[in-house]
Amino acid sequence: MSARQRLGIGGVQNHPEQLISFYQEINAKGSLILSDKRVTSLRIIHFPDPRLRKRCAPVEHFDAELAALAARMLELMREDKGVGLAAPQVGINRRIFVCNVTGEPADDMVLANPELTDLTGDEIGEEGCLSIPDVHVQMRRAKECVLTARDLKGNPIRLKGVDLAARCWQHECDHLNGKLIIDHMSEADKIANRKQLKKLESDFKNK
Ligand SMILES: [Zn+2]
Repeated sequence: MSARQRLGIGGVQNHPEQLISFYQEINAKGSLILSDKRVTSLRIIHFPDPRLRKRCAPVEHFDAELAALAARMLELMREDKGVGLAAPQVGINRRIFVCNVTGEPADDMVLANPELTDLTGDEIGEEGCLSIPDVHVQMRRAKECVLTARDLKGNPIRLKGVDLAARCWQHECDHLNGKLIIDHMSEADKIANRKQLKKLESDFKNK
C-alpha cells in the first residue's frame, strides 16, 4: 500500500536490527534455503503480472529464508515509500506481509498467515498500491479490525488496528487472496485511472 496519510499505531515488533540478527543467527546454523543472491534480486512486480492474482499458500517454515524475505520486503517497501507490502508483490506465493504505517523504523511489522476478524465500522478512503503505481482508488474498508498472525519465529500475534493500520491490513490481506484495489473501482475511478492502467498493461507486454 502506498503512503498518503500517516497515523500512529501501537505495537513494536520485528525491528530491522532484530530481524537481521535473527537472520544471521539462523544463517550461521546453515539452514538457509533461499540464497542471499535470490533474496537481494527480489523486486516489486507490477499489475498485470499474473503472480499478483494467485491465492497464496500458508507459511509453514519459520526459518532464515522467511526472515530474509521479510527483511528484503521491508527494504523494498521503504524504498518506494509504502506503508505495506505483501509477498506476492515480490513474486512469492506465501501468506506474509510487512507494514509500517508511521514511517518510524521501530514500527516495522512482519505478519505471517494473517487472519482478520471483528471488522467494524466503515470508512471510504483513497488507496494506492506499490504494484499499481500512480493509480488511486476510493476504497470502502472497515474502520477497525483485529489481526491474528504469526511472527517470524512462529509465535502468535494478536493486534487491534484502527484507521490507517486497519486499512493497510485489509489491503495486504486482499493481496494474499489475489485481490487488488482496481477490482473495486467506481466509474469515476475507472475514468481517472484509465490511462495509467493502459500504460501499465503495455509496459508489462513490452517487458
Ligand atoms: Zn497493494
